[in-house]
Formats: sequence, structure tokens, C-alpha cells
Amino acid sequence: MQYKRILITAALPYANGPVHIGHLAGCFLPADIYARYQRAQKRDVKFVCGSDEHGVPITIRAMKEGVTPQDVVDKYHAIIKDSFEQMGISFDIYSRTSSKTHRETSQAFFTKLYNDGVFEERETEQYYDEEKNTFLADRYIIGTCPVCANDNAYGDQCEKCGSTLSPEQLINPRSALSSAPLVKKLTKHWYFPLNKYEAWLHEWIVDGKKDEWKANVYGQCKSWIDSGLQPRAMTRDSAWGVPVPLPNAEGKVLYVWFDAPIGYISATKDLTNQWSDYWCQDDTKLVHFIGKDNIVFHCIIFPAMLKAHGGFVLPDNVPANEFLNIEGQKVSTSRNWAVWVDEYVKDFPDQQDILRYVLCANAPENKDNDFTWQDFQDRINNELVSVFGNFVNRAFVLMHKLCNGRVPKLHEDVMDDADRQLIADIKGAKTKVENCLEGYKFRDGLYEVVDLARKGNKYMQDKQPWITAKSLAAEPENQKLIDNCMHLCLQLTANLAILANPFLPFTVKKMCGMMKVVDRMLEWENAGRIDLLKVSYPLPAPELLFRKIEDSEVAAQVQKLKDNLLKATSNMDNSIPVTPAPAENPIATPPQAAAPKPEITIDEFNRMDLRVGTIISAVKVEKADKLLKLELDMGTEIRTVVSGIALHFKPEEIIGKQVTVVANLAPRKMKGIESRGMILMAQNGDGRLIFVSPLDVADSGSEVR
Ligand SMILES: [Zn+2]
Repeated sequence: MQYKRILITAALPYANGPVHIGHLAGCFLPADIYARYQRAQKRDVKFVCGSDEHGVPITIRAMKEGVTPQDVVDKYHAIIKDSFEQMGISFDIYSRTSSKTHRETSQAFFTKLYNDGVFEERETEQYYDEEKNTFLADRYIIGTCPVCANDNAYGDQCEKCGSTLSPEQLINPRSALSSAPLVKKLTKHWYFPLNKYEAWLHEWIVDGKKDEWKANVYGQCKSWIDSGLQPRAMTRDSAWGVPVPLPNAEGKVLYVWFDAPIGYISATKDLTNQWSDYWCQDDTKLVHFIGKDNIVFHCIIFPAMLKAHGGFVLPDNVPANEFLNIEGQKVSTSRNWAVWVDEYVKDFPDQQDILRYVLCANAPENKDNDFTWQDFQDRINNELVSVFGNFVNRAFVLMHKLCNGRVPKLHEDVMDDADRQLIADIKGAKTKVENCLEGYKFRDGLYEVVDLARKGNKYMQDKQPWITAKSLAAEPENQKLIDNCMHLCLQLTANLAILANPFLPFTVKKMCGMMKVVDRMLEWENAGRIDLLKVSYPLPAPELLFRKIEDSEVAAQVQKLKDNLLKATSNMDNSIPVTPAPAENPIATPPQAAAPKPEITIDEFNRMDLRVGTIISAVKVEKADKLLKLELDMGTEIRTVVSGIALHFKPEEIIGKQVTVVANLAPRKMKGIESRGMILMAQNGDGRLIFVSPLDVADSGSEVR
């Protein structure tokens, strides 16, 4: 289908804290690259976003800090908005869901569904705090975790072991707001019948979108649909949110995941009077950029809402990314294990593009990825500085040295195969980058940009115009060879600017200054041309595009992470949670470091026969609470190992897992069973055990060294 307009949305960040680099990598940066590219294509693009300002965590933070929810969202909306501006995220509008437009838009949406008889009204029993006279959202209910016995688990999740919970599963549930015992009371809510849209969603996604959507997105959608959809409450008992626009609905607000995606519509309304062209015309291409935790809301619930309402376009694509971990651990706001964008721009002033570069080059497009400061330094120093920056700098320096500071002519009569190949490479790069960006493969696209610079470096190195220059006294005609080399290197630089512009806009601005070109040169259709810089045009001396990252800067950032973690864990106050529930999987507190053991020699280590085993059966050992009898496939034999892990794992859950086995441990009998070997486990600070397993599937019996 030929689209006339492109409407790009990026997930509304939750105004309960600043944004971290995982947010940037997850959706804002890819959305921005896509928007900048589409604008360079001169397409009709709108790029909208805004703060999500409703929901329980904001009211909890307000209560904890003794301020109003509005104070909380005002504070973080400003911080988040500023972080995006600093990082060059080029929204056409950054709106917010506490705005009047949004309240009216989401209420009108709700009313239309209500009048059309879409909702089912249901009365259910929910926990109520009689002292505070309020129904309690799951997050306000605290109790003992049935999995790890943490006394401060929340009604939706235990932050210590990461288990997803419901209030009913908590042992001794209590209110987070008061000491009052919990009672259950009837309350009425409006449910959206997702089950009635199951067949349509199946047809639209499973039969329709599978080839276009990313495998991770399609897979999640399919498993949601296959496991059957249930009606979902679209209202909540709360004083903070968009009031339910019905009589007798006092104290009830729209569910945050009902109103938040409508925020895309209200933001577009605030942006342009022509908003309905973008939302209601079939020839609009709607693209939602999100993180993987929001897939169900953007691919199942919101499309079903739009379908029920009628008159709206549906998303053409939802390119969701996975999560970015930091230094090998999941991001955790409660433990302050994160790299905050507002702090990055203070620590690295005027260095936005290098972060954009690393986050795109290492984007978690298909699986969770790890950000480390060491990798940050390596990529910048080895790729941006040595390849991209170095090429541009040499092209300018040599042009001043060998061509009087002017763009030299291209002499067709002395062109050789290397010149022609470079021209083909320049043309080819346009197609390659374009295909990647149209297909939401931003990492690959960025790789192709840097690869063009790499080809430029090689070409220059092979041509060695500085050597040719030494022959000029004897062979003045050789100036033509030098001219050709420098001409092509400079035209390649102009092409690099066009191709890199969606990714590295701050750097490209510098490059445009050096080349004395106007923004129009950056239009995408100009890529592939080798006449972008005018012959005999004088150009200034180059500025350095990037600087190296020093070891000391890396060490300081790693130390900062550790210090933050230490501060956060010592200040941890579990009485009232302030972290948003859905976005992240909090992880267990790291174990107290065990005392180091005395040094051993490599020979002593080599005496251990460590091997990968695959668990093929697991049964409880009778009259022994803690023991499981495991059968392990060791490649050449099946071994029996008795292991003291029965309190931690259900036998059926561990079938198929690969584990590390000490294979030459002397056999011993436990409860009458001969155990031949021992499996290795890691233990967390809370006592939880974790298998030490190969990250990828290994052959059973393969040696661990
Ligand atoms: Zn737990």
C-alpha cells in the first residue's frame, strides 16, 4: 500500500522518575532515527510522544514525598522532556496525559464505547482499607511472598525474587497506607470484552502480520491470543486519573492502560488541527515504537479498543525492542542500577552522539543486550574515532595539503578501477542503509554507515596520495591522480553526512559546517551522488568530530554505578513502594560476597572434570524434603545425581535444563541412592539457588574448562 503519511509514536514514559539509557535504546532512539530518516525522504511525518502521568505508582510516590500527584508529574515531566531535547530526540510534540485535551479525548473515547454497549459491568470484591476509606490497588497491598518469604512483597510482584503475584497469594496481606486490617468490599467496574475480539485479532495478527512484524513481537502476540483472551477492567478506584465520565462513578478513573495509548491521539490533536488525517485516513502508516513489556497493550488491547471504537487506523508495525541490561544486571530503579540520561548529559557534555551511537550499535533488537562502559569506550575509540572520525579528518587535512584547500576536480580520463569501485560503494551504501531503516533494522543500518567510512579509509590508504605528491616534480600530470582521490574522499564525506544524519545529528551538523553546505544537501535522495561538493569550493580546516574516551572516565562511571547501588540498598525502605510495577523485573539483592579461598594452581584446577549435563528426569527422594534424584544425560552415559535442591525447584520445571556437573567427584550414597557427581549452583543473598548453565545449548557431556 502506498502511504501518504507516517505517524510515529514512542511509548509514553512514566512520569515517576527520570529516563535511563535502557528507555532510550528500547524505543526513543530507534523511533527518532526512523523519524529523521523519513523526514529526509521528504515524507509527511508526525512523531508524537508525551508523559504518562496517571496510575498508582505516582500516587504512592506523592504520598511518600508528602506532595500532590500533580507535583510529582510536573517535576518528572520537565526532567524527562529536557533529557529528550538534550539527546536530540526530535518529537514534533512532547505532550502529557494530565492535559485538558487528553482528559476530553479519553473521556469521549470511553463514552463512545459505553454508548455502543461495548463494556460489561461487573461487581467484584476488592481489598479495602477502612481507615483510609479507599480501595487498594495491588501495589498498595503488602504481605509475605509465598515463594521466597520476603515480608515486604507487593500484591502484584515480589521485588526480592521477581515472582509475579496476586494479592490473594500473599501471606498475611496488609495495607501499605495504614495499619488497618484489610476487608473486602464490592465495587463496580467496566470491563472491555477482549474475548469478543479474539477471532478478529487472530485474523489480523496471526494470519495477517506475521511476515511484517518482528519475531519477538509476533511470538508474544500469538501466545497471548492462543492462550485465550479475557475481559479486562478499564476503570479503577482511585482519586488520580481521568474521571470515568458516567453518573454514579464517583471515585472511579480510567485504567491507566486505557487512557495512556489514547495519549498518542491527544498529543496529535495538540500538535495539529489536521490530526484526524493522521488517525482516521487509511493511507496513514501508524508505527508504535515500544519496549517488549508493552507489547500486549499496543498489539492486543489498544488495537481492540480502536477496532471497537471504529474510524481509526491500526498500527502497521510495532517494532518492539527487548531490554538493555547494565554491566550484566537488569536495570532496577529501586536499586538505582541504571545510567540516567539527565546525569549522562552532565557527565559528558556535548557528547550526545557517542551515546546514540553505542545504544544503536548495541541495540537490544532481537534479544536482551548488555551495556557496559568498557564496550562504550571500545566502540567509540575503535569505531567512531578510528574509522569514521579519522577518515573525515584525513580527507580534509590532505585536501588542504595537496589541493590548496579546495575541492579538486574529478578527471575522468585517469580514473581507475579503484575509483569506480568506490563510486559503486557510495551508491550501494544508500540502498543498504535505506533497506535496513525501512525494515526497522537500525543496528545493521548504522553498521553500513560506518562500513562506508571503512571503505573510504581503505581506498585512501591504497591510493596513498601523499606518496604520489612526491612524484609531482618529475610528473606534474600526477596531480590529476591526487585530485581524483581527494575529490572522491570528499564526496564520500558528504555521503556519510546524509547517511549518518538520522543516527548522529549533532555530528552531522558539524560536518555540514566543515563542508559549508546547507541542510538541503542532507535530503535522502542526494545520497549516492558524487557531485555534492562543488569543485574548487574552498573549505575550512577540519574540526575533530569525536574524542577518545579515557580509561579514567570508564572507571569513574563504573564506580558511580556501584556507589549508587550501595546507597540505594542501604536506604531501601520497603514500607511503601515507589517503583512502577510493570516495566522491569526487579532482581534479587546480590549475595554478601563470600570470603575468598586460598589460591590454587592450574594443575589443581585441572584435576576437576567439569562437564555439561542435561537433566532428563527429576523426582523427589522419599523421606527427604530437600533432595531430588536427577538423571543426567552426559553424552556417553546417563548418570544419577542426588542434589539438595528440592525446596527450590519443582521437578517438572527443570527437565531439559543444562547444568554444570563435577563429573569425577567420588560417588556417595544418599538415602540409599548412589550419587555420581555434583551439579554447580550459584546462591543469591536471599538464599535462592540458580543453576550454573551454559548460555547457549551445549552438547551433553562437553567439557567445561
Ligand atoms: Zn519473593
